[in-house]
Amino acid sequence: MSTELQTELQAAVERRRNFAIISHPDAGKTTLTEKLLLYGGAIHEAGAVKARRSQRKATSDWMEMEQQRGISITSTVLQFEYQGCQINLLDTPGHQDFSEDTYRTLAAADNAVMLIDAAKGLEPQTRKLFEVCRLRRLPIFTFVNKLDRPGREPLELLDEIEQELGLQTYAVNWPIGMGDRFKGVFDRCHQQIHLFERSAHGSREAKDTVINLGDPRIEALLEQDLYYQLKEELELIEGIGPELDLEQVHQGQMTPVFFGSAMTNFGVQLFLDSFLDYALKPYARNSSEGTIPLEYPEFTGFVFKLQANMDSKHRDRVAFVRVCTGKFEKDMTVNHARTGKIVRLSRPQKLFAQDRESIDVAYPGDVIGLNNPGVFAIGDTIYNGKKLEYEGIPCFSPELFAYLRNPNPSKFKQFHKGVTELREEGAVQIMYSVDEAKRDPILAAVGQLQFEVVQFRMQNEYGVETRLEALPYSVARWVTGGWDALDKVGRLFNTVIVKDNWGRPVLLFKNEWNLNQVMEDHPELKLSAIAPVV
Ligand code: GDP
Repeated sequence: MSTELQTELQAAVERRRNFAIISHPDAGKTTLTEKLLLYGGAIHEAGAVKARRSQRKATSDWMEMEQQRGISITSTVLQFEYQGCQINLLDTPGHQDFSEDTYRTLAAADNAVMLIDAAKGLEPQTRKLFEVCRLRRLPIFTFVNKLDRPGREPLELLDEIEQELGLQTYAVNWPIGMGDRFKGVFDRCHQQIHLFERSAHGSREAKDTVINLGDPRIEALLEQDLYYQLKEELELIEGIGPELDLEQVHQGQMTPVFFGSAMTNFGVQLFLDSFLDYALKPYARNSSEGTIPLEYPEFTGFVFKLQANMDSKHRDRVAFVRVCTGKFEKDMTVNHARTGKIVRLSRPQKLFAQDRESIDVAYPGDVIGLNNPGVFAIGDTIYNGKKLEYEGIPCFSPELFAYLRNPNPSKFKQFHKGVTELREEGAVQIMYSVDEAKRDPILAAVGQLQFEVVQFRMQNEYGVETRLEALPYSVARWVTGGWDALDKVGRLFNTVIVKDNWGRPVLLFKNEWNLNQVMEDHPELKLSAIAPVV
């Protein structure tokens, strides 16, 4: 590699930070995202992200569906500059549209921001996403939001994170008061108080007044009880809490915690500044050829998400690729590891919300959208140089199951084609009954919306009207060791055995309780919530 290219790559990696936000609906992810973009200068008025969305005309059936439902199905990548860094925010779909894409996006992220509503603490979706982050050992940064409203005690929230997630916490800043009496935060690193000023709507960057802890003005600015409470709490956390240990943060064992209010902008900049300092830059990833260091000169990357029919005029499909090493250049040709084909990467796209813009180059840590004429599948590696494959993206335990019926036998072919293609694309997992007489596919998903998308697309793209018949299961486990292992166990109760698309045995349970019962009765049976990668 020329030293020129080496320097260029090094500089690009040095300034890149890539992350995804994990949260439960309503914690404030959209609001925080907007505020981050505001600080990054990518938009000038908060509210613009939403406004752009609603201004947009329905350009496809897909978006029509999004608009009817008032939700965002597509996850995109928001790129913005802040203090000389390039930040790639992988926007995970939120809300009711929780789907496997949400999990897969985390495979492309280098860091995660766990956003928590101060009044609610940890919520189910956050816990699930946290588990995926833990699996990948992602560094996790916590932002406790909505301090301008009455919430739970900060110490109690930290305790919940430690106890329930087994994650050590380090409060980078500490709130002073809460709700109507929210006065600001204390920045422990710089030993300064940032006073909160209530601005009209928080549509502009918040102005904050910074004073040092020893400043005599504090007593006039803070009510006495809040001042003493702050001193007391600080003594307590300094006394019992560990020091900030970046190595532990980078290994996903300790989370730096920030308090603030996204709606009023407060604490967002403090968070962003520390995040840039503490977050991991793009790092080496594991592959079939071992860990591929960032200095590796050739272009390599993997597909983590496919998106179909964003524009009905073109009926196009977009493959989202995370660049791992090297420099991506428009129109370059690469090898496609799974098929051995050579593919030309034309029409690369950078994504800002829904507006696609063409790009010419990309570096490690970036995400590009490629036109996908049916070549790419989730987890595929593309590379130059010697052959390698990045670790695949596993299927995560589905929680919703339903038979997909085709009431019209003359549409058998289209039905089959549609099911196969939607599965290949990763829109939904497909399982089958072991009973040969029951040949209809069982759709298995992590979110209800995946079912709706499948039915919608079966109708619109394949011309098949389908019927769904819900199945009463909520837990799936793959049997480690396959059919042989299962045969040895003998008869199982309160579970049904199905096979996944690759013919591997999967057990479905009505609830966790039944799962635990089977595990207790058969300690020799090894089960996994994640499918072995094919
Ligand atoms: P998402 O579902 O996580 O994307 O959440 P949104 O960003 O849409 O926020 C959910 C609701 O919480 C909205 O009504 C927001 O205005 C409100 N919200 C977000 N952040 C704050 C905050 O810091 N303080 C208060 N009081 N409300 C907030």
